[in-house]
Formats: sequence, C-alpha cells, structure tokens
Amino acid sequence: MGQAKRAWEESEANGNIVEFLEEMLRRDEFKGALEGIAKQVVDKGVNSMSPKQSAVVDKFIEAYRERNECDRCTNGNVTSLTDLIFISENGLCPMCDNDREKFMRD
Ligand SMILES: [Zn+2]
Repeated sequence: MGQAKRAWEESEANGNIVEFLEEMLRRDEFKGALEGIAKQVVDKGVNSMSPKQSAVVDKFIEAYRERNECDRCTNGNVTSLTDLIFISENGLCPMCDNDREKFMRD
C-alpha cells in the first residue's frame, strides 16, 4: 500500500467509516460478526480493529458499494461512504440528485 493512500485512509476515511457503520447499525444491515465489529469501531475507533476484523469490514463495504451504484454516474461522483447510503434510498448519488433537481426546475 502506498504512503498517500495510507494517510488518506487514516484521516478522513476513518471518520467516514465510523459514520457509515453507525448508520448501518441503525438500519440493522449487519449480521453476525459484522455487528459486533461495527459496535466496537463506533465505540473504540477504527484502529481498535484487528487486521482480520478490518478485512471483514472492507469486504462488506466493497459489496455494499457494488449493490448501491448511482444510476447516472455509476459512482464516479461518489466521494464518501455515506453517499452510498444516499444511493440506497434515492438510486442516485447526492451530486447527481442535486443536478436532477436543478434540471427539473429549469
Ligand atoms: Zn451519481
């Protein structure tokens, strides 16, 4: 893994993951081990995860990303994990949804 990617993951992405996992917990999206890991991350932070736990979470996020793809930009405009939650509800990412509203107003 390159330095830049690591730095990115350790700064903004971490806050993002906590927010994402918290929302998933609220929605009862987790089963089994994932639920426990998510609660631990919300409680103790991303760095409390073992490499094995981290891999489980990564796998879930990867699958969630594939399941929730923006109809318009195929996630090209997606900048954060919470955008994916927005897509699960609206079919579009926040940026495309915003564009569509503008288009409909004109
Ligand atoms: Zn989009």
